[in-house]
Amino acid sequence: MEKYSSMSFCSTSTRNGDEPKANYRGRDRSYADLAEFIDEKAEQLDISAVPSKAAELHCLFDNARDSIIALLAFARKTGVLLEGLHHLTILNSLLRDDAGKRTIKTWCNGKLVSIDVDDLDAADAARLALAEQCGVSEQELLRFEQRMADPYGACFRVPCNHQGCSMTKAVSFGNPAEMLDAERLTANEIWYCRYHREAAFLQGGIISDEFLPVLERIRQSPGLAQKDTGAKRDDIQFLQSVGLLTVEKVTYGTRLLCYQVALTDEGHAMLDKLSVAVAVA
Ligand SMILES: [Zn+2]
Repeated sequence: MEKYSSMSFCSTSTRNGDEPKANYRGRDRSYADLAEFIDEKAEQLDISAVPSKAAELHCLFDNARDSIIALLAFARKTGVLLEGLHHLTILNSLLRDDAGKRTIKTWCNGKLVSIDVDDLDAADAARLALAEQCGVSEQELLRFEQRMADPYGACFRVPCNHQGCSMTKAVSFGNPAEMLDAERLTANEIWYCRYHREAAFLQGGIISDEFLPVLERIRQSPGLAQKDTGAKRDDIQFLQSVGLLTVEKVTYGTRLLCYQVALTDEGHAMLDKLSVAVAVA
């Protein structure tokens, strides 16, 4: 963890070029790559010792402003055109307004709001209180709020474990604690899409981790109705097709009452194997 080494990151930063070292040079300069690099940098920062985030942010804005002014002045002197309007637009966004204020966007209780930088510490205290209420850290709450704002929905995507397959499974969550659980669960989850799950089983004897609780539930209540297994009908049919389950129709006269599901011997063996693997992990 890269910890702020004194009262202010600004006061220790880069004038003589000795820090920070991890610059963006040498990377493919796509926006996505740049955003990822910034995420990595943010992840490494420990700002717990910063006394005022508002003062720090002003200081960083001022440094960025001075650097861009220096860059543009040097470019003008040397007669080099540095996409002038583009840099002026960036510069303008770094300046204070006529009243000496700066406004930024921040997350506040699930909403993206504009906030005076001078009010940042108060907003920060409110977020910290909310994080404590939710039993998560401030950064985790912030991550949750940012994910909730994702236009594609608040979820993690587990990729199909078959090489080259682009299918993913969405794992959604509704609060910060659920997000952390989902994050932990999906980090090492093995999952195969419907096109590759049969091959994975036949060739490697592997099934998706998500079937472990389903098989466990069926072992504990043999004859469980399909709807109580926690799996979709299609999943049950798959597990039956590879010989892990039996599914029996229960009828009353000609009327179908339900499907009863039970483990086969192979199903018991697979569950034992998966349970050992989970216990070792
Ligand atoms: Zn797949």
